[in-house]
Formats: sequence, C-alpha cells, structure tokens
Amino acid sequence: MADKKLVESITSMEEDFAQWYTDVVKKADLMDYTSVKGCMVFKPAGYAIWELIQRQLDDRFKETGVENVYLPMFIPESLLEKEKDHVEGFAPEVAWVTKGGLNELEEPYCVRPTSETLFCDFYKNDIQSYRDLPKVYNQWCSVVRWEKETRPFLRSREFLWQEGHTAHATYEDAEARTEQMLNVYADFCEEVLAMPVVKGKKTDKEKFAGAEATYTIEALMHDGKALQSGTSHNFGDGFAKAFGIQYTDKDNKLKHVFQTSWGVTTRLIGAIIMVHGDNEGLVLPPKVAPTQVMVVPIMQKKEGVLDKAYEIRDAVKAAGLRVKVDDSDKSPGWKFSEAEMRGIPVRVEIGPKDIEKGQAVLVRRDTREKIEVAIDDIPAKVSELMETIHKDMYDRALKHREENTHAASNWDEFKNIIENKQGFIKAMWCGDRACEEAIKEETGASTRCMPFEQEEISDVCVHCGKKAFKMVYFGRAY
Ligand SMILES: [Zn+2]
Repeated sequence: MADKKLVESITSMEEDFAQWYTDVVKKADLMDYTSVKGCMVFKPAGYAIWELIQRQLDDRFKETGVENVYLPMFIPESLLEKEKDHVEGFAPEVAWVTKGGLNELEEPYCVRPTSETLFCDFYKNDIQSYRDLPKVYNQWCSVVRWEKETRPFLRSREFLWQEGHTAHATYEDAEARTEQMLNVYADFCEEVLAMPVVKGKKTDKEKFAGAEATYTIEALMHDGKALQSGTSHNFGDGFAKAFGIQYTDKDNKLKHVFQTSWGVTTRLIGAIIMVHGDNEGLVLPPKVAPTQVMVVPIMQKKEGVLDKAYEIRDAVKAAGLRVKVDDSDKSPGWKFSEAEMRGIPVRVEIGPKDIEKGQAVLVRRDTREKIEVAIDDIPAKVSELMETIHKDMYDRALKHREENTHAASNWDEFKNIIENKQGFIKAMWCGDRACEEAIKEETGASTRCMPFEQEEISDVCVHCGKKAFKMVYFGRAY
C-alpha cells in the first residue's frame, strides 16, 4: 500500500487541473517556496531541466551568430523613462531600490523587468560605424516583475530567462532577425520539447511595450488554455531615436539603428508539464530529461543483481544517455512510482529471474508499455526509444491541439465553443482594437496571434460583422 501513496496523493487533472499542476511540481520535486513571497526555489530536478533547455537553446543561438553578454541588474529611473510606451507598459510591475547601504539614493534604481533601456544605453556608445553592425547579443539572467498572483514556473516575481537584443543597419535586417529567432524558438519547441506551436503576429493591443511588431509562438496546454511560449519583437528605430543610437554609414551620413529583442523564460518548464504530464505525474521529453533512463533492481540484495544493474548503467551511459541506478532501500514499487512521478522517459527493471534469462524489462513512461529485451541489446534499444518517445509525444500533443482547435464563422458559434468546448478558436477579426477588447470582455478569450498560415473562414469579423482583416487564434490563456 505504501508504494501507491506517492501517486495517490496527486489530484487527477480531469477533476482539478490547477491542483493537478501544483501537485506535480511539488511531488516531482521541481520547486519549493521560501519566505520570499511570489518567488520560488528551483530544486535540482527543476533546475536541471532549465540547464538542459539553456544549453541546447544557447547552441542554437550561437549557430546563428549570437554572442552572450551580461549587463547590470539595476536601471536608473531616468533611463527607464526614456521610451514612453515602454515605461508605461512596465511601470505597474517594477520593483525599486531607493536605498544604498544607509543612504537614500539620489536617483532610484529599478531592478530590471527587461533590459531594452540598458542595452540602448550601452549600444549608444558601443556603436559608431556601419562596421560595428550588426550587434547580435544575448544575456541569460533573471528579471523581476512585481506580479500580484503567482504560479510556479508560469508567473513569479523573479524569473529566469534569456533576452536577446540586436542592432542592425536597416529595417529589413532587423525584421529578418526577428523572424529568424521566432523560428529558432519554434524549432526548439518542436525538436527538443516535443511541443507543437502556432507561429504568428500579435495584435497591436497584445504587442510588447515599445515594439513595432511582436511575433509569438503559442502552445495549447492539456486543459485547453493557451500559453505564450516565446516572443520576438521588431522595434524599428523607435528605441534608437529615443536613446540617440546612431552610426556613420558608408555614405558618411549619421543614421539610426534598427533593433530587435526576443526571449523565452522558465515558463517553458510549465509548458512541458501542462502539455505532456498525466495523472501519474510528469512526462519529460527525452531531450530535456535530466535522467533519461532509471535502472531499478528487483530483489537487489540477491547476489549479482546490483552488479548487473551497474553494468547496464555503464553500458547505457557509454551509449551517450543520462542514466542512474535507483539502489536506495525503498521497495521496487515505490521506485517505479517515483520514476514515473519524475517523468523519467524509460525505466529498466532487472531482477534475478531476468538475469537468469539474460533479459530485462523496459517500461516507457509516456505509454507505460513494457518491452522485454536481451540485456546486451539494452543500450541500442533505449537509444532508439528516446527517438520514438520524442516523436510519439509530439504527435500526441499535435493531435490534442488539432482536436481542440475550432473554427467559428459567426458570434453564436464563437460563444458556443467558449461555453461548451475548450482550446483555440480560429475566427476572422476586423482589426479594430475596441472589437478585440469587447470579445475579451464578453468571453475571457484574448487574441493569441494572427497566424502566419492564414485561412479565410469568412469575409467578415466574427464579432462586429465588419470587413475581415485577418484570421486570428483566440483562446483563454495563462
Ligand atoms: Zn470586429
């Protein structure tokens, strides 16, 4: 009975999805709280996922020419105020430092909510000539936004992220970089996180404060809510004009630069949980699983069992996988549940009878399928399974999104979907901000994006009946 307890204490996702989420992050040992309100501790199992995200994303950045830098975490008030839309957008959630040691500061410093203004201040001196362009910098850091309501990984007052900030000679170069980084994010989500995303452009209402255009990737969670999973912004020359970032071009004329910024955060961990998790706990995509294979010895006190388990571990490790043996004194049943709760993609069960037959049992976390395999074949089989599991997880997530994406051609259909179904609603929109706000007011559904892949569902706006501007993905969102 004790073996079951670990699992029985999580709420089923059908019963209460929010509680299920909280139970998983706690039981899978990803995070904890401290006395710092609205902030969280990344425990080893949670931080290791972030490290794997960081490493693989950073490699992809660098393939496109990105260089990493690090800027201060404080921003003087006067600097933050230089770009009007930007400061208005962030003011309500900025944290301020007003004292240094025992003395009041002459000018308050905010703790960075994002670093556009600091990068601008830096680029103003660092960029002089066309030879200095482009600048394609990124920083990995934490930022602070004083949120009222917080949830582990999805919204916390301090969170980890990367923010890329680039400067270019032309608008076209900036636009190309904005789209390039959105594609890097989309490919990363699909190829590493096994998470399909919709790529598109934000409406003016939803775009980043100070941006000319914001592009986004949107993913659908298991409960039918959307999660904005990464954004890429084209600033045009707005920030450059506000901060005076100019360079001398080949024709000897002074010109303003064009800028972009782009970021993803530890929200991606929340996305992994809510796209792939089930009622047994976390299900990790193999490429970000800190432990990909857990070897569980059965009757481990019998002679030869632990030795065989270590042998298997070494062989799997030599095949390039992250593998551990659970040689703790817990019962095998407990170990199985724990490996499942933590989302470990494959476990290997090996006991005296298996050893006699020269075989072991592999269990897939995603489908819980059991596969008997000769001990010598384990490294090859688990390597193959990593690929299969990734693909199957992606396919299931895509199928879920497709089954939960509904087209609405008129307002009755739209309201019917919101009330009786879940997921994305595809519908035409007139382009008017007031109409967008009215839709949100009436249904709680916001515009997620205007997808790059447009369809023509009808020729009029789903809400007001005026001429349609674009097809939009609507949804309730995190
Ligand atoms: Zn309308």
